[in-house]
Amino acid sequence: MAKPAEKRIAKFIKPFRVRPGASVHLAKDFDPGYKASFLHKKESVDLLHRVNGLLVDYQARLAADDQHGVLVVLQALDAAGKDGTIRHVMSGVNPQGVHVSSFKVPSAEELNHDYLWRYAQRLPGRGEIAIFNRSHYEEVLVVRVHRELLDRQKLPDECKAGNIWKRRYRAINNFERHLADNGFRIVKLFLNLSREEQRIRFLRRIDLADHNWKFSAADVRERQRWDDYQAAFSEMLSHTSTKWAPWYVIPADHKWFARISAAAIIAHSLIEISPQYPQVSAEVRDALLKTRVELEAEAPEGAAADPYQAEHPEEVSVPKTGTAGGRPSRV
Ligand code: ATP
Ligand code: MG
Repeated sequence: MAKPAEKRIAKFIKPFRVRPGASVHLAKDFDPGYKASFLHKKESVDLLHRVNGLLVDYQARLAADDQHGVLVVLQALDAAGKDGTIRHVMSGVNPQGVHVSSFKVPSAEELNHDYLWRYAQRLPGRGEIAIFNRSHYEEVLVVRVHRELLDRQKLPDECKAGNIWKRRYRAINNFERHLADNGFRIVKLFLNLSREEQRIRFLRRIDLADHNWKFSAADVRERQRWDDYQAAFSEMLSHTSTKWAPWYVIPADHKWFARISAAAIIAHSLIEISPQYPQVSAEVRDALLKTRVELEAEAPEGAAADPYQAEHPEEVSVPKTGTAGGRPSRV
C-alpha cells in the first residue's frame, strides 16, 4: 500500500504525463503557465525541501541496492531553467551517486559514429542516477529544425531517404526499451516555457550585468524558429512517450512550480523502483553480533559499552548487552 505522501505525489504529477499513443499538440494540450491551485509559492520552498529529503533517502538506497539505475532526460527551450532545475532538485543528494552530462554541438569524433553513440557512453551504471542536460532527443529536435546539421552527420544517402524522423523515433524507443528491460528507469522531463516568458527571461539576462554571460545571440536566432520547434516538440512527444519511458511536460513559466514538479516526478520513479538496503544472512548477522560483543568489551572505564545504542536506543534493534562503564555481562 502506498503511503499518503506517495499517493499525493502520484496524483500531483499525473496531469503532466503524456499518455503513450496520444497525439500531442503542445500549445493546445499543455499550458506553460499552469500551477496547481492547492499549492502556493510560499509553501513550495518547504515542500521542495521535503521532496529533496525523499530523493536523498531513495538515492542512498538505490546505490546500496545496486541493481537499478535511473536516467533523467531534461529537454527544454533556451532559458526554460534546466540548470536551475538540476541544481535545486538534486541539492543534498550524494554527488558520488549522480552525474550530469550536458550535450552540445557534437564533436568530429562524435559525428564519426552513429547518433546514439555519445549518449550511450554517458548512461548511468547500476545504483546511479545520470542526468542528461539535453539528450538524444536533440537528434529529432535541433537536427530536425536545422536540416544542415543532419548533413554534417555523414549519413549515406539511403539512410536519409524516406521518413528519417519516424525511424529515429523508433530507434530511440527501442534504445530506451532495451535500457528499461535491463533495469534502468528513464524519466523524461520537458520544461514547457511560453514564448512571452522566454522573452522576459532573455531581457532580464540583458538587463542584469551579472547575467549577461548567460545571454547568447544564438538563443535569439533559435527563438525565431519558435513554431518549428513547437512542431518538433509536439511530434517528439507524440511518438516517444511510451509505457516504459513516458514523457512528462512540466509547466515552466513559474520556476518554483517547475522545480517542485521535476522533483516530484523523479521521486515518484524512485518510489516505484522501491530500492531496499540489502539484508545480510542469518549467519552474517550472528557473526556481527559476536563482533559487537567483542567491541563492547573494549569500552574504556566510564564509557558506555555501545555509545550509539546508549544515545539512540529507539533505533537499535539488538538487545542491550552492556552497561555504562562496565563490561558486557554475557556473550
Ligand atoms: P546554457 O545555454 O543554459 O548554458 P545549453 O544547453 O543551451 O545551456 P549551449 O552551449 O548554449 O548549452 O548550447 C548547446 C547547443 O548545442 C544548443 O544550441 C543545442 O541545440 C546544440 N546541440 C545539442 N545537441 C546537438 C546535436 N546533436 N546536434 C546539433 N546541435 C546540438
Ligand atoms: Mg544555451
